[in-house]
Amino acid sequence: MSELRREPVSQRWVVVTGQPWETLLDLLKKVKGGDQEPCPFCPGHEAETPPEIFALREPGTPANREGWMVRVVPNKFPFLRIEGELERTAEGIYDRVSGIGAHEIVIETPAHEADWGTMETHQLEGILQAYRERILDLRKDHRFRSIVVARNHGPHLATLTHPHSHLLALTVIPKRIEEELRGLLLYHDRKERCAYCDTIRQELESNERVIQATQRFLAFVPFAARYPLETWIIPKAHAHDFGLIGDPDLKELAGLVRDFMGRIRKLLPEPTSSLVLHTSPLQRYTEPRYHWHIEIRVRLPVAEGFEWGTGFFVNPLSPEEAARLLKEVAP
Ligand SMILES: [Zn+2]
Ligand SMILES: [Zn+2]
Ligand SMILES: [Zn+2]
Repeated sequence: MSELRREPVSQRWVVVTGQPWETLLDLLKKVKGGDQEPCPFCPGHEAETPPEIFALREPGTPANREGWMVRVVPNKFPFLRIEGELERTAEGIYDRVSGIGAHEIVIETPAHEADWGTMETHQLEGILQAYRERILDLRKDHRFRSIVVARNHGPHLATLTHPHSHLLALTVIPKRIEEELRGLLLYHDRKERCAYCDTIRQELESNERVIQATQRFLAFVPFAARYPLETWIIPKAHAHDFGLIGDPDLKELAGLVRDFMGRIRKLLPEPTSSLVLHTSPLQRYTEPRYHWHIEIRVRLPVAEGFEWGTGFFVNPLSPEEAARLLKEVAP
């Protein structure tokens, strides 16, 4: 069974899944060798995944058969498991937590080759809806303190190329969210305002880094973007919890995300991107002063590795230029 370990100085949590070296070598071959044949996420192969937890399907079609539009299943090879005793133990200066959690896979579309940049907005809406439904269901388990959605898409990034996202429910709060929270609370203590709401106001006013704004959402390149073409999508009105998003907002968000991914595809023929959804922690850690958002990173084959050692990023493209490029290309 996996476990979570906390680095005592930086306070970073690490999931140690403890796989044998041979398994890691096999995995490496799979990533390099491209697609697994046949693909377990394609329609007709429903029996090859664990039974579905949630699905949007054509009316009248039975579970775990064809006819779905979006399908959520437990990961067959989870980092964390839902069953078992949640144990938090100390070992001298070290913190250890048993590998309890949920690790689900959102199979985003029946179409193996689909891409968010060419997909129907309606399909993307279904994916975001699946995120929301699973977040609302998983939070009923009071052991979970945060839920994170992450997706990697593009060549050589995943063992399966069929479009999918990972949904992780955690018994701890990830460092990145904790860092954002700390910054937001400090800012709030000083100014009694939300730093992200202020950012949105300023970005809309200066219009230097705005890619697209809809009635309720803003897509912009952050002032200090870490990566070329890094983009944030954020609700304009303060909202801490993605789980509470309403249907009209979900639809509008889907349109904006679809447009953004379409722009990326126009700039790069075969884009590789990573996306993460950051939303407020849960239970007694719920923080109304948090402001949920989506962060998207386009992976370019530029030199990396500096930030690994330093936490100090080198971005070769100016955020203003990135925003101009993204704004000018039609989605
Ligand atoms: Zn497939
Ligand atoms: Zn806010
Ligand atoms: Zn964030």
